Amino acid sequence: MKQYGIVGHPLGHTLSPTLHNWGFRQLGLESRYDAWPTTPDELPAFMERFRSEPVMGLSVTIPHKRSVMDFVDEVTYRAKLVGAVNTLYWDGQKLMGENTDVIGVVEPLRSHAQQMTTGLVLGAGGAARAAVAGLKELQIDNIFVSNRTRFKAESLAHDFGIRVLDWDDRHRSDADVIINSTPLGMAGDLQDLCPLEPEAIKPSAIVFDLVYNPLHTELLQRAQEAGARTIQGLEMFMHQGLEQFRLWTGHGLDPESARELLLQELQNR
Ligand code: NAP
Repeated sequence: MKQYGIVGHPLGHTLSPTLHNWGFRQLGLESRYDAWPTTPDELPAFMERFRSEPVMGLSVTIPHKRSVMDFVDEVTYRAKLVGAVNTLYWDGQKLMGENTDVIGVVEPLRSHAQQMTTGLVLGAGGAARAAVAGLKELQIDNIFVSNRTRFKAESLAHDFGIRVLDWDDRHRSDADVIINSTPLGMAGDLQDLCPLEPEAIKPSAIVFDLVYNPLHTELLQRAQEAGARTIQGLEMFMHQGLEQFRLWTGHGLDPESARELLLQELQNR
C-alpha cells in the first residue's frame, strides 16, 4: 500500500482525500491518501518520518507552504517563482517541491487565453502569486495587481515585473481577465461582499473567483449579470489536485468526473 497525504494546520474539511482516494480507486492502485494535521513545531519531525517511511507524495497547505522548502532536495522553477510549495513528489531518490496551484489557475483559463491581453489580480497573498504566475504562463503580458495593503502589491509586482493598480482605482480597470484572490465573498462575515463594482466588469471579460465556499460568489453573480464569463474557484482546486495526482502516479484523471465527485462531496457536507 503506497501512502500519500496532506499536511497543514488546521486542515478542517479538506476535499483532497476525496479527490485522491477516488483517483486511486479509479485506477485500481493500492494507495491511500490521509489528512495529517501538523503544527509548525511538528513539521521537522514529520518530514523526517516522511522521508524514512517513505511517503510517496504530499500535498502541503497553510501554514507550511514556505517552510517546507527547507526539507526538500530541489524546488522547481515554478515553485521558486511563486515562493511556495504545495506538492512534494519523488524524482528517483530526489524529493522535489512543486507548486501546482499555478496549474490550477492556468488550466481553467487556457481555452480563453487567445482573447486575453490584460489581467487584473485582486489580492497579493499566496494565491495571488500563483494567479500572476499562471497569467504569465499563459503569456499575458499586461498584468496589474491591486491590494488593500499597497506595499504587498508593490512587492509582488516587483518580483514578477508587473504593475500595481491602487486598491481605490481597481474599479477603473479594463481587464480582459479578472482573478479574485482575496477572501471577499467567502462564507461567513465576508459572504455578501464583492471585491469589484459591476461597472468594472466588461461583457467580454472572464472573471475567475478563487473563493470556492460558496461556489457561486457575489462576484460571480455580478459578473454574470454584466454578461461576463465566469470560472468558479473549485476549478482551481480541482486542477491543482489533478496535477498532483499526475506527478505522483503518472496518470491523468477525467476532469468532468472529478468535478462531479467534488460537487457531490460539497453537497453532502
Ligand atoms: P493570504 O495569503 O492570506 O492573502 C489574502 C489576501 O486577501 C491579501 O492580499 C489580503 O490583503 C487580502 N484581503 C484579506 N481580507 C481582505 C479584505 N477584507 N478586503 C480586501 N482585501 C483583503 O491568502 P491566500 O492564501 O492568498 O488565499 C486568498 C483566497 O484565495 C482565500 O480566501 C481562498 O478562498 C482562495 N484560495 C483558493 C484556492 C483554490 O484552490 N480555489 C487556493 C488558495 C486560495 P492585505 O495584504 O491587505 O491583508
